[in-house]
Amino acid sequence: MSPTAALQRPPASPPLSILMYHQIGRFPRPKAHRALYCDIGRFRSQLRYLKWAGFTVMSLEDAWRCLFQGAPLPARGVVLTVDDGYENFAQHAWPALQEFGFTATVFLVSSLIGKPSAWLKDFDQQPPLMDAATIRRLRREGAHFGSHAVSHPRLSQLAPEQMRAEIFDSKAALEDLLGEDVPDFCYPYGDYNERARDLVQEAGYRTGLTCIRGAANWATNPFEIPRKAISYGDNLIGYAWKLHAKHARKG
Ligand SMILES: [Zn+2]
Repeated sequence: MSPTAALQRPPASPPLSILMYHQIGRFPRPKAHRALYCDIGRFRSQLRYLKWAGFTVMSLEDAWRCLFQGAPLPARGVVLTVDDGYENFAQHAWPALQEFGFTATVFLVSSLIGKPSAWLKDFDQQPPLMDAATIRRLRREGAHFGSHAVSHPRLSQLAPEQMRAEIFDSKAALEDLLGEDVPDFCYPYGDYNERARDLVQEAGYRTGLTCIRGAANWATNPFEIPRKAISYGDNLIGYAWKLHAKHARKG
């Protein structure tokens, strides 16, 4: 991937953060891959902080309007994104979000709806992913969904036709599942190259979300939008620091 392309311009003020989560629930303290887990107690504290500090929790569409369509940025804007679509999102994260009246965008792996997270081959478990009925219910309740490709591949390692299928077919499948446009794409592993980026645009998506660290204001291209990963180890101070940071360093 080419992170420098998205980092050539200092962010406008105020910064708009797009936070990245994966699994949210109750876990034994992870020995590795800490950015893939967030304790539900900490998640609730983080939502409470957003409310207390006066943050506007925005949809990705609203953020896109601010970043690329000239809509005014809120003084403190934040978007919550959750990758992969684990069942624990429906079980733990969504009820907490609803309590605070916040929304989030969840990125789904279109061929693994209602199945184990099969790409996590090296993990002890492949935690289950939400099924279609759950996804439709959450959408009715105000959650947003985007595409995380068909099978969660490293896109840059695929042959051109496979890459195209992962990007295009996931959009079609999720639009079929949801009965509406699916305008947002998130690169699995944050892995992409120019070809993948351009295919995301060609497929008709509005955004492409990366794992480049930084405020979303750094994006010069809507298909290379930076995010900030929230890790299992982040206490509230670390969390607040990440939220307020303008710069692309220390994720
Ligand atoms: Zn993922």
